[in-house]
Amino acid sequence: MLEEIVLKMYGRKIADCREEELYHALMTLVQERAAGKEITGQKKKLYYISAEFLIGKLLSNNLINLGIYEQIEKELQAAGKSLARLEEREPEPSLGNGGLGRLAACFLDSIATLGLAGDGIGLNYHFGLFQQKFKRCRQKELPNRWIEKDSWLIRSDKKFSVSFGDFNVIATMYDILVTGYDNGTNRLHLFDLDSLEESIVGKGIDFDKEEIRKNLTLFLYPDDSDEAGRLLRVYQQYFMVSCGAQLILAEALERGSNLHDLADYVAIQINDTHPSMVIPELIRLLTEKGIEWEEAVQIVTDSCAYTNHTILAEALEKWPVSFIEKVAPALVPIIRRLNEKILEKYNNPAVAIIDGEERVHMAHMDMHFGHSVNGVAELHTEILKNSELNDFYQLYPEKFNNKTNGITFRRWLLHCNHPLTSLLEDTIGNGFKKDARELEKLLDYKEDEEVLNRLIAIKKEKKHEVCLYLKETQKLTLDEDSIFDIQVKRLHEYKRQQLNALYAIHKYLEIKAGKRPKRPITLIFGAKAAPAYVIAKDIIHLILCLQKLIAKDKEVRPYLRVVMVENYNVTMAEKLIPSCDISEQISLASKEASGTGNMKFMLNGAITLGTEDGANVEIHQLVGDENIYVFGEDSDTVMARYDRGDYCSRDYYEKNPELKEAVDFIVSKKMLRLGNKECLKRLYQELLNKDWFMTFPDYPSYVEAKERAYADYEDKKAWAKKMLVNIAKAGFFSSDRTIAQYNEDIWHLG
Ligand SMILES: *Cc1c(COP(=O)(O)O)cnc(C)c1O
Repeated sequence: MLEEIVLKMYGRKIADCREEELYHALMTLVQERAAGKEITGQKKKLYYISAEFLIGKLLSNNLINLGIYEQIEKELQAAGKSLARLEEREPEPSLGNGGLGRLAACFLDSIATLGLAGDGIGLNYHFGLFQQKFKRCRQKELPNRWIEKDSWLIRSDKKFSVSFGDFNVIATMYDILVTGYDNGTNRLHLFDLDSLEESIVGKGIDFDKEEIRKNLTLFLYPDDSDEAGRLLRVYQQYFMVSCGAQLILAEALERGSNLHDLADYVAIQINDTHPSMVIPELIRLLTEKGIEWEEAVQIVTDSCAYTNHTILAEALEKWPVSFIEKVAPALVPIIRRLNEKILEKYNNPAVAIIDGEERVHMAHMDMHFGHSVNGVAELHTEILKNSELNDFYQLYPEKFNNKTNGITFRRWLLHCNHPLTSLLEDTIGNGFKKDARELEKLLDYKEDEEVLNRLIAIKKEKKHEVCLYLKETQKLTLDEDSIFDIQVKRLHEYKRQQLNALYAIHKYLEIKAGKRPKRPITLIFGAKAAPAYVIAKDIIHLILCLQKLIAKDKEVRPYLRVVMVENYNVTMAEKLIPSCDISEQISLASKEASGTGNMKFMLNGAITLGTEDGANVEIHQLVGDENIYVFGEDSDTVMARYDRGDYCSRDYYEKNPELKEAVDFIVSKKMLRLGNKECLKRLYQELLNKDWFMTFPDYPSYVEAKERAYADYEDKKAWAKKMLVNIAKAGFFSSDRTIAQYNEDIWHLG
């Protein structure tokens, strides 16, 4: 199959081609095959609008979805070439921050896999999220230029004009083909600014934030710690939704809509509030085309649905009217009129779109003028209904629904864990690939020694692989026979990497005092911090200092290692997750909307150590008490304490000598010699005087649960059974299930 293509392209056989030629040929092969399978001919089409699509590398996944992975692998092997090496060549597009963007990517895979007509709409950031480097135990940010000569981007001939307050720009639409597993192909449409100038990027990731004509699609989420950065975000958002809305209407007209019946032709899913301006933009375009105001509002409401991803107040976007006035003045009278309509009807300032400080609450607009509001895990949706968005739930109980997140098993099992996939094929057959619930059949093998032993062997193999990879790429040496206890996710105080770091200190001090663990432990971290998030960077500094301290300590190193991998991204996740024994999901209860990392780990046979938060709650329900380690206060307790406002971290510190010792160690002589005084002292003060995410109350139960997990690990067979149950019960978290529910309850496609 590949041989013909390389002969045609280069006039040579596979064996005589260079790696980059083979990579290019494979890309061509995939594009040709995928383009032939486009999902067309359905009346209604979904548009998933999102500022982020964290798609990861695409070559292997496309080969898997097109059903030609094994064939290509064999063909390459026969010619003395390695598909794995070609995969390494591919740059990772970094068009997302973390979970939210990764979710959007999993959804596109599932939409195509279910054969639904649904495209993504987003932006073509040339540098995306920064590349992370560590220097002197601190994070440095570098631009990640992911677009090469041979990239997956297909330049379309579609151009769009976007009018800002005082100038116009032209956009070009690029497409990335989205292959479904054993099904059709959809597209991810990424809009790009024609007048962009990459050369304005200076040192690191610095650039002139005011040169909108040159900078608009340079970076994902530019630093918003200053006003210029925040304003640029609004420019990006309007640019995205203006292009998106024009595309949606043009395609609906092409499919036969007369626009009055638009809602029969399109479903628009608004992924968090970043694309919310699509609502007033569509109203603007429809009224411009002659549709009456009231009808236009109704059409848009019937077409749009909103997904809420967080209850962290600082993440609910509120843009000053003055920003929108500057960026998209035509939207301001529309938003004001929508606001008046709401105030007339409800006379409740709490549900206003524009508040007393002239700020537009994007989520409020979505809830009033969309027909569906969904949370992303059961607990999260309950919190939205009962507290965070209760005013809106009172008005529109029928709009609220839950859609527990999911992950695509093609990437997070078939691609990243070949040996586990083989074990499943050998035991339960191939059905699980199309119907993830079939994984439950694995429960029949719970007492099967051979299957349990294979699970143990697979974990060992995956640890070995990741050790080689980290040695080669990051000069890290890990102990393959240790317990791999992994926390990889964005760095945020609510996710509480600092709690895990406090445990590391505690363990270090214990070992120093002569109390050694039965088996060596490796605490693995991976996390990027937002460039302007000072405390998050201090936490990275603390972890890297601990890594250095222990690496140099002959007494401690045989029993405990702390490592933080550089530049955690999708590629790194695919390598680390299959190797994991213990999955750290330790956010403060009520703060993590869902989490999807937790699902990836579970599917790959890691046991969760977690709080009753987000989808951990559902994991717990599925696997039962025996197969998860749950600790910490529950969300009701936490929320009640926030309401009372009486949390005092110092009280916990004073009353718990072990905790005090660990916290004090942050600013011990040893640490201050090793690290940066300002960073360490600031972090110490933050914990002692604030600890906003309440690590101290959960500290004793965290240590207890972690020790219990380590002790249980020693019974290999019992542990393998836990792994098996976790894998068997993970079927619920397939994004195919999530998408089927979105379609059933919200989109009604196909
Ligand atoms: C899955 C994933 C995330 C989300 O992880 P959470 O633990 O749910 O926060 C973030 N980043 C990458 C690269 C991922 O693959």
